[in-house]
Amino acid sequence: MRNVVILGSGCAGNTAAIYAARANLQPLVVMGHEPGGQLSLTTLVENFPGFPQGIDGPELVENMKAQAQRFGAEYVGGSVTEADLSRRPFRLQIDEQWVEARTVIVATGASARWLGLESEQKLIGHGVSSCATCDGFFFRDKKIMVVGGGDSVMEEANFLTRFGREVTIVHRREGFRASPIMLERARANPKIKWILNAVIEEVFDVEKGLVTGVKLRNVKTGQQWVAEVDGLFLAIGHVPNTAVFRGQIELDTEGFIVSKGGARTSVPGVFHAGDVSDRVYRQAVTAAGAGCMAAIEAERLLEAEGH
Ligand code: NAP
Repeated sequence: MRNVVILGSGCAGNTAAIYAARANLQPLVVMGHEPGGQLSLTTLVENFPGFPQGIDGPELVENMKAQAQRFGAEYVGGSVTEADLSRRPFRLQIDEQWVEARTVIVATGASARWLGLESEQKLIGHGVSSCATCDGFFFRDKKIMVVGGGDSVMEEANFLTRFGREVTIVHRREGFRASPIMLERARANPKIKWILNAVIEEVFDVEKGLVTGVKLRNVKTGQQWVAEVDGLFLAIGHVPNTAVFRGQIELDTEGFIVSKGGARTSVPGVFHAGDVSDRVYRQAVTAAGAGCMAAIEAERLLEAEGH
């Protein structure tokens, strides 16, 4: 029987592990299918407080893990394949093995949605990014393309105009999901250009290991062409990793965990932290803060119950 099982090993999960371990709760951290979370996919992180020269994402997250292990957190590979949260102790199947837990912290994150092109996948971190806040800075005076039609693409395109020489929004249709105010703001920005009714079919240049351009196709006319760009950002949504909890924890229409105040979920004893419940901020530092909150809540509950 575990006091705390933490699902996910990104910023939120690792920070929860540091706090829970320092509270002598010997947490078990289930690392998940993307150990280290989104940070493990980035390069230099320049906005995490405490690192004036920046720090590589994978190194930052590895440091957090080492910090948690120093205080007794235990890490296991694998993911939760089944969960029974209907009664306590909760039961979680981690690969083949069932684990019982008095409290659970769900920090399974949300994965950025990608286009799914082979060339795109190979160039992630080399000119292809899903996070303008993280990587925009590296594209000073460069030509940038951002894909999407929601609020995120408007926000990211506006943000990227601070760095890029030119920012082009590519959207697969003419209508936008973005709210009118965000759309207007982007339309009013003279540095933003628009390519509508178009999809990206290939990203160049895998051989060189950097982005030099993309092949586009107009979905109405079928016309194809190549455009030169230095950076490609995807802002086509995030998919929260909550499928295994569907029907057990209250989720919103897109699968994000609905917060019941603080780090609480609809199930007492199950807490949330990080991108799995955050559609707004999605930053390493906010995820870390949320992990801290979840661990403190778990600790207080266990203490109140006399464990
Ligand atoms: P979103 O609203 O779901 O929009 C995703 C966009 O990506 C859609 O326009 C969609 O096109 C497009 N898309 C999806 N899959 C695609 C694919 N495979 N290829 C090409 N295009 C694809 O996601 P979001 O913009 O990340 O916003 C998510 C939520 O966060 C929303 O509720 C939004 O309001 C909120 N948000 C708010 C703010 C803010 O208020 N400051 C900022 C960011 C996000 P279609 O339209 O054709 O489906």
